[in-house]
Amino acid sequence: MKSLMVIATFAGALFAQSPEWTEPFPPHKVVDNIYYVGSRGLASYLITTPQGAILINSSLEQSVPLIQTSIEKLGFKFSDVKILLISHAHWDHCAGSAKIKQLTNAKYMVMNADVTEIEAGGKGNFQYDNPQSRYPATKVDRVLHDGDKVELGGTTLVAHLTPGHTKGCTTWTMKAKDGGKTLDVVVVGSPNVNPGYKLVNNTLYPQIAADFERTFRVLKGLPCDVFLGAHGEYYGLNQKFPKMKPGAANPFIDPAGYKGYVAEREQAFRSELQKQSGK
Ligand SMILES: [Zn+2]
Repeated sequence: MKSLMVIATFAGALFAQSPEWTEPFPPHKVVDNIYYVGSRGLASYLITTPQGAILINSSLEQSVPLIQTSIEKLGFKFSDVKILLISHAHWDHCAGSAKIKQLTNAKYMVMNADVTEIEAGGKGNFQYDNPQSRYPATKVDRVLHDGDKVELGGTTLVAHLTPGHTKGCTTWTMKAKDGGKTLDVVVVGSPNVNPGYKLVNNTLYPQIAADFERTFRVLKGLPCDVFLGAHGEYYGLNQKFPKMKPGAANPFIDPAGYKGYVAEREQAFRSELQKQSGK
């Protein structure tokens, strides 16, 4: 009994989800044809085109009705979602995918190194291989590789492999038009070393540290005007959203914020690596 209690408490501490994950957030246009349709804590983006829409991040199973409501509030149809993408194979970004595929018939496109996990419902994840982190197993319709393009109705997204946080963690980039200018948009997959991640002697993910190194190289090399990510907290959604006003500068255009965020996250990775290396 006592050991069960300990397990329950341990699991609770690890898997307690933030209340912000399911708190509705005003859906809004970010720039051009990119819209925010996520909750306060879990980002989902709708990219509209004349041939239907692309959705990034299905989030939790219970997020699906919230995402649908957000899409409809903006005047679009949920059934217009033709392509479903994710930031990475963790339940808070992909658990709703099976439901969304079923409701919209969207084609699910996932980075190769995350595909096995997605199709096994989270089984085999190097850090969270436990019942609390599982999600409905979901068939992937197109396996993506680093640099692959996802195209729909004149819009092109590029999949950048930014591994470490998961083996197939994906950062999405695209171009957006804004007042005659072309802007570079970056949706960061995740640069985060989660609590408990073993960067040294990780038998389930031996190349994890090298993968994070690669991720920071890639992120530092990406041109970025519009800074977005898998969670609003990456780019300061809560602070930026109220600054969205007619006539005011678009707060999501934040190249300095992107650079600062990547530098800070790289520093956090390096100090954790140093700590774990015992140097
Ligand atoms: Zn994650």
